Amino acid sequence: MREAEYEPVIGLEVHAQLLTRSKIYCDCPATFGAEPNTQVCPVCLGLPGALPVLNREAVSMALLMGLATKCTISPVSVFARKNYFYPDCPKNYQISMYDRPLCANGYIDIETDGETRRIRIERIHLEDDAGKLIHGEGGVSLVDFNRCGVPLIEIVTEPDIHSPAEAYVFLTNLRRLVRYLGICDGNMEEGSIRCDVNVSIRPVGSGTLGTRTEIKNLNSFKAVEAGIGTELERQERVLRSGGRIHQVTNLWDASKKRLIMMRTKEEAHDYRYFSEPDLPPLVVDRSWIDGVRERLPELPGERERRFIDQYHLSAYDAGVLCAERGVADYYEGVVSDVGEPKAASNWVMREVLEELKNPGSSIGEFPVKPEALAVLIRLVMDGMVSGTAGREVFKEMLRSGEGAPTVVERLGLRQVSEGDELEAAIDRVLDENPKEVERYRTGTTKLFAFFVGQVMKETGGKANPRVVSEILKVKLGD
Ligand code: ADP
Ligand code: ZN
Ligand code: MG
Repeated sequence: MREAEYEPVIGLEVHAQLLTRSKIYCDCPATFGAEPNTQVCPVCLGLPGALPVLNREAVSMALLMGLATKCTISPVSVFARKNYFYPDCPKNYQISMYDRPLCANGYIDIETDGETRRIRIERIHLEDDAGKLIHGEGGVSLVDFNRCGVPLIEIVTEPDIHSPAEAYVFLTNLRRLVRYLGICDGNMEEGSIRCDVNVSIRPVGSGTLGTRTEIKNLNSFKAVEAGIGTELERQERVLRSGGRIHQVTNLWDASKKRLIMMRTKEEAHDYRYFSEPDLPPLVVDRSWIDGVRERLPELPGERERRFIDQYHLSAYDAGVLCAERGVADYYEGVVSDVGEPKAASNWVMREVLEELKNPGSSIGEFPVKPEALAVLIRLVMDGMVSGTAGREVFKEMLRSGEGAPTVVERLGLRQVSEGDELEAAIDRVLDENPKEVERYRTGTTKLFAFFVGQVMKETGGKANPRVVSEILKVKLGD
């Protein structure tokens, strides 16, 4: 008999920091990177008697995410105190949501291996972030409370993910979505997106879930993938050797690529959840939802499909162009001016995206505007500039900020495709190579390429090869 095959079962809990100007329960700025403990007040420091006031924009942003993931929006949701002690949390509790979250029962569709997979979203709720501990030398730790009260949404998936790679794709999709919505910058290094994972395995075909473990401290999507992979292997080893899985929380050690057992898993009752007495239930009426719905942009997945249908791009190209909203906007800006969707896609994917790899460059401040690139593409498509020269023109446009026609004239890159100049060059080449002309006429037709090459040389590479061939054919008497 074959050994049992195991199937991985994975659920994610993702925290995303919302890009509101102020914090969720007070009016301190929510921006990242300020001097430690300069963006605090009695509310976010949890001083006695201070009362929270809910930031309406944080709710609107959570609603945007709820609508984008096709969740049901709860007309009334309830904030709840989640009690725990930790030095980064001066209130000794977090104001989260428990049994009545704002959004529930949605989904995100992802593509893996050319197949669409639906990952259901169990819930999306609002809560406040904690401060940050900075572990220094000599066993001294410092605490920065600036992050206390920065609004978070927590997105909890159903255990619908079945491989480390799928978790990675899901997270990439989710990050793209929050960025399209403009509700989170998706910057994992700065901690604006954080992800805890829950992992179990079960025999293939089994209808029940195995005991899961949790992994925390995953500071990149690659770490999520690696952490899950490591834990899956461990669980399989344990089960195959007749052991059992205990429900624990592990920390991922990215430098050593291994898991460290942190604690046995806490249960909901450990947190002594109760309804937050200082905030009324959150009532979201139809008009609020309608207002938020109007802010919904075309979602990245839909946009990708439209790019394939409307511009006849490959799935790959559509995926690359739609990875970032600004790039997709840029691309459509180019196409709306010049048409030529395939050429435009090549230019954006090769030249523009290449340039965007440079640190500090962004599509929002890209020096060559879509209209300017459209002009250049038109010149190339019309044969005024060769493809190679076009790329040189582009580099110069980036550097000098000039338009394509100016650069073409200044650098003398106009392709010679008509008129006396080109004919004269061709005549010179034929005059200088009488032997080759003779051999060509008596049957050595492979010399045609030689003539084209000579003309290109003669014109300093500025001739349009297609036009050269046509004229040559006539002159050589084909
Ligand atoms: P918690 O008590 O940790 O809040 P939840 O039931 O809310 O537990 O689930 C948290 C996450 O764990 C969800 O993403 C869920 O899909 C996932 N999860 C729950 N059970 C399992 C399991 N047996 N295997 C893998 N993931 C699971
Ligand atoms: Zn504050
Ligand atoms: Mg939970």
